[in-house]
Parts: sequence; C-alpha cells; structure tokens
Amino acid sequence: MRGSSTSDGRGGCLVARARLLIAAALAGVVTTVVVAWLAMFVPTGHAWNGPPTDQVLGAAKASDGKFWQLSRGENAWHAVVSYWHMQISGMSMWMADDDYQGIKVDLAQLPRRDRPEDLADLHMHAWYHTTGWPFPALSCAVHWQRQLANSNILYRVEGGVQLPRDASFNPRALPLTPVWWGFLANVVVYAGVWLLLGRGMRLARERRRARRRLCAGCGYPRADLPKGSPCPECGQRPN
Ligand SMILES: [Zn+2]
Repeated sequence: MRGSSTSDGRGGCLVARARLLIAAALAGVVTTVVVAWLAMFVPTGHAWNGPPTDQVLGAAKASDGKFWQLSRGENAWHAVVSYWHMQISGMSMWMADDDYQGIKVDLAQLPRRDRPEDLADLHMHAWYHTTGWPFPALSCAVHWQRQLANSNILYRVEGGVQLPRDASFNPRALPLTPVWWGFLANVVVYAGVWLLLGRGMRLARERRRARRRLCAGCGYPRADLPKGSPCPECGQRPN
C-alpha cells in the first residue's frame, strides 16, 4: 500500500517534471523566434533597420556578365550580406579581369543562407539577413524586384514572411528559415531562463504562503491543522 503510493508519487513527479520541461522548451522556441523577428526592426539609424553594410567583401561576376559588389554588416543580433549591382549612371560597370581577380569573392565559401542560388537571379540589390540572440537563429533574403518610381521599389522575400513596406518603401520581412545550430542553442538558453524564472516565482509563492500559514502547495489554510500534518487538500507536508 505504502509502496504503491510512493511509486504513484514518483510517477506524478516525473510527469510534472516532463510537462515543465516541455513548457519551458515551447517558451524557449517562442522567445527564440520573437527575439529573431524583433532584431529585424531594431532601429540603427540606417534606412532599413539592419546594421549598415560597411565591410566590403569584394565583387562577384554573374553568368550574364554583371558585376555585383558584396558587403556585410553586423551587430549582436543581426548580420546582413548585401549584393549590389555595380553600375554607374545606369550603365553596368565594366572591370578589367586583373582588377576583378584581386577582389573576387568565391560565393561557394559563404554560408548557404548568405548567397543566392544564382547571381543572375538578382536585380539591382539583395540582402541576406540572419538574426537572433545570443546565436544566429533565423534567416531570410530580401530581393529588389522592380522599380516603380525613384525610391518606390517592390521587393520579394525568400525564406520568410513579407510584410508591407514602410512609409519610405523600405522592405520589411520576418525571417523564417532556421539556422539550426543557433536556433537550438537559443531554445536551450531561453528554456533555461524560463525554468529559472518559474522556479524563482514558485519559491517566492511558497515563502509567501508559509508566512501566511497556508499550505505551500495549494494555499489551503494550515492555521488549525496539527503541526507537521499533511495538507488535507493536496497532501503536501510543511517544510
Ligand atoms: Zn495543500
């Protein structure tokens, strides 16, 4: 009799622990995604809210002969690789082969999330975003698609959700393609944070109940119970 109630208690405890871990993991996933999405909108004073692409990586030549300049920008929660079709006054830029070889970027060396399938698919400008904190978790690409007039440009988003452009026609997007190692690492970090927060809140609640002479487990009044007896509501013994 006693043995069975002990094993029931242990089983219940395991189930409760598993449920707690699953809830923490889910909260970790939600936090990972929300942080990665918010990172797309953190203002940096730049035209679109990403980090300025101030590191020039070099140039790449597409199969159609067009030259593209690659540059990169990065802050703690957002990295972006920009592809810009090099042109002067609307004319595609010509570059001597010796010059090109000196600054050539081997696209195959870039992570898959930072490059197009084929450079010839790009128009004018494209940005490959990766966001997340503390590790890169989600990515998407924003493509310049068509110019309607001056700065009024239509964009297309790959690997994410396209949102309406802002008032100055800047593209807005939510990345949806996971960078698996970083995504999982962030889920573990945030799940741990949620577990610690939950534990802290539970301890604070138990302490508050004990001060008011209530059962720590369910809040049942213990004032009239014999010292050390189990709670008639939930069976928990006082510490
Ligand atoms: Zn109780």
